[in-house]
Formats: sequence, C-alpha cells, structure tokens
Amino acid sequence: MDFQIATKSIRAVLFDFDGTLTEPGSLDFGVIREAVGCPKGRPVLEFINGMASQAERAEALKILDAFEAEAARQSRPNSGAEDVLEFLRTQGMKVGIISRNSMVSIRTALNNFERIRPADFAVILSRDDTYNPKPSPEGILAAAGMLGIPVTQVLVVGDFVFDVEAGRKAGAITAFLTNRGSSHPCAYPSDFTLEHLGELKEIINLYAPF
Ligand SMILES: [Mg+2]
Repeated sequence: MDFQIATKSIRAVLFDFDGTLTEPGSLDFGVIREAVGCPKGRPVLEFINGMASQAERAEALKILDAFEAEAARQSRPNSGAEDVLEFLRTQGMKVGIISRNSMVSIRTALNNFERIRPADFAVILSRDDTYNPKPSPEGILAAAGMLGIPVTQVLVVGDFVFDVEAGRKAGAITAFLTNRGSSHPCAYPSDFTLEHLGELKEIINLYAPF
C-alpha cells in the first residue's frame, strides 16, 4: 500500500461498482465495443452519446444494457468487499456507490452479495442520474452533498483511471485499486494505491476522525 498524503480525515467512502465492489472481469468492454462499433480505446458511453442518429443511439444503448444485465447476473462480490463494507458500517462511516453502469444492473449484481443490501448504501449514483459520468467530478460532488460531508473528507475508491480522475477533480481523497495487478495501470496520481479491498481497513483506522 502506498501513502501519498499525510494528514487527512476520512468520513465517507464512495466506491466505484464494477471491478471494485464486484470481482473484476465480468464486464468485457472489448466485446461490448465490438458489438456497438466503438473504436478500440474509446470509452463506450461517450461513444454512444456522441452518435448522430437517435435511433442508432437507442439501439447501441440497448446492446450495452443487455451486456451489462448479463454481466450483473454473473458477477460476484469482489474479494473482501462484504467484509470491508461491514467494517465501514461498524465504524459509522457513510458509504456510497458511484458508477457508470445502470441502476438496474447495480441492483442485480448486489443480489449476489450475501450480507450487503442496496439499503446499506447512503447513496447510489448510476448513469440513470443526470450527472455527467466519471471522469467528470459532478457525481462525486453531488454524492458528497447528499451525504452532507465535505468532499475533501470523502475517499473515492476505484479500479479505473476515470475513478481516480473524477475523485481528484472533485477534490476528494482517492484510492486506486489494482486488484493485485489485474486492473489497467492508472496514469492519474492517487493518494493511495490498494492491492486489494482489505487494505482499506488500515486506511480507515489511520484516517477516520473518531
Ligand atoms: Mg470499475
């Protein structure tokens, strides 16, 4: 675990969903890109939103939704996710989800958790909400407002560069999750780098204000 910050106080944790709270690998963006005709390396949501024809856009979104729904059904909690979420609850820490996925897929995937329910999250923001998706900081700023916590005291945890970029731009504290090397390397600087979610306990023990 790398430490980049010295004195910060963490009062809430906002998690990315896919590949962060769920096991990485269930969403294969290479396959999805091919199915919707998105060039390699382009983010799928932005590609679809940029399509000129409304009909094409609707069709591509339908394809994306179908892939995500199937991936959500197959997905499993990430290693240590349920433990860490329960730990955060015992610490009185507010917890939320911020995702580029749809709410229905997030709820489907949460059904595969044994001890965690949607109601355990104080806020869940998905692409169904009106905020621009990550890497825009909008959702993180909105979530911090809903939690009633200054964004500078919110820890954003995610397995993709967009999570770190969004968190950083919002002024939050950021943790990049490498999933023991299976995440794409993050080119954006984060405050923490975690090999696995269990390392969050250590960070919370150090930086929680109580
Ligand atoms: Mg992710």
